[in-house]
This record gives sequence, C-alpha cells and structure tokens, in this order.
Amino acid sequence: MLIDSHCHLDALEFNQEQDVIVKLALDHGVEKIIVPAVNRKSFDDVINLRKKFPNCLYALGFHPMYINDLKEDDLYTLETYLKTYEPVAVGEIGLDFFVTKDNKLLQEEIFVAQLKLANTFDLPVIMHVRQAIDDVLKNLRRYPVKGGIAHAFNGSMQQAHAFIELGFKLGFGGAMTYTRATHIQALAKSLPIESIVLETDAPDIPPSWLGHEGRNTPKELKQIATFFAELRGMNLTSVIEISHQNTLDALPKIVQLCTSSKKLH
Ligand SMILES: [Zn+2]
Repeated sequence: MLIDSHCHLDALEFNQEQDVIVKLALDHGVEKIIVPAVNRKSFDDVINLRKKFPNCLYALGFHPMYINDLKEDDLYTLETYLKTYEPVAVGEIGLDFFVTKDNKLLQEEIFVAQLKLANTFDLPVIMHVRQAIDDVLKNLRRYPVKGGIAHAFNGSMQQAHAFIELGFKLGFGGAMTYTRATHIQALAKSLPIESIVLETDAPDIPPSWLGHEGRNTPKELKQIATFFAELRGMNLTSVIEISHQNTLDALPKIVQLCTSSKKLH
C-alpha cells in the first residue's frame, strides 16, 4: 500500500473536506498520509487530524517560510509538544533562500535549534530545502540527526548522494511528471531505489495531468507511483512495496504508532 510521505491535509484549501479526501485516497490505495506541521497553529490541526483519521500521522516543526512569525516561546512550545504528543518526525523544517534571503541568519538559527530538538527526542526530520541545499548539508554535518526525508528534492546528483550518505531519503512527487522536468526525472530514474520516497505535497505541486491550477490531493499518489514505475521500467507493485518500506525506514515511528493504534481497537 502507498504512503503519501508529504501532504498538507490541514491546509485551508481542503476546507473541512478531509473526510472525502482521505476516503478517496484510501480508495486509490493510499493507506497512510504523513502531515507535516508548518507553524504553531498547525500543531493542533495536525494532531486533531490524527484523532479523526488514524491513518494520518504527523510531524511537528516550523517551516522556514513561517520563521518571521515565530514568537519567543515557540521553540519551547515545540519541545513540549514533542514530549507530549506522538510525531513521526520533526518537520517541516529547513531553509528556503528562494522566497527570501533577508532572514538567512534567523532561518539558520531556527533550523539548527530544531535539528538539536530532533536529536534530543531521537526523531528523524522532514525537510524543505529550496536554493539552500549546501547550507542544509553543512548544518546536518555539524548537527547530525538520525536521517529523515529531503522532500520535493531538486538538487544535483552529488547533493542527492550527500543526503543519502547522511541517512536521508529523497521525496519525489508531482514535479517529476512534467515533460520539461528532465533533471528531476533523471534523478528519479537513476538514484538508488531504496533512497526514494513518494509524496503529493498536496495541495501544492499538482501533477501534470491536473495542470498547474489543478486540485492536488493524496489520491494522486497512485498515478505518481505509476509514472515513477514507468520512468524506472519497474512494475507498479514493486514500486509500491519498495517506496512503502523506504518511508517506514525513514520514519520508523509509523510502525510503532500504527501497531499501538491497532491494539486500541
Ligand atoms: Zn510541505
């Protein structure tokens, strides 16, 4: 069964239609959905989603695009939440120098603080990395964590291997489905299969068949997996099995949390 390793199911775009979206995803073989928080408000939203949908798991962290909104005690709140709740990772964290470089130092400071928290709680990280790959790698070498996922990966082959050596998987989704995305396709085609996880990043990055304005939801992961299988010349069943295992390897808490929730029923 498929795992959508990155989906913002709590996003406003989904506007209380999560029931339908999760059901549709299940109907398309998407068994689990990983929902990373992006800011303080979304901590409670993603935790509530898990209460409602046992197949949705979450990560807790501050996304680099929301860093300017941080309040003084927010990092302390994150620490308390990591202690109290059951995230599968610290995320979505990272660096984004595409949107702005003006707060570069602050972005780095908050990223490092969150890497340290991941280390303290022995959690992997889910990372957003845009025009900042070398800076992210530099910080990961300085403040090692137990791996995780570099989501929507679009770096060089060499940078991809640097992440893999640090214990990371690389996330591929809708971006690779565009005809002009030859670089991402080359990465998706030639990187070691055990280093790849699949994601929709819904509602962002709609795959080519929806068009840039299309409504992306986790059910699209099935077709993304089919596209990926064709790209690699593999059969869909192996892609589903291998990417499933890769996601569990990157986020081992999924197994633990899903076993314990089964016991409750
Ligand atoms: Zn994201």
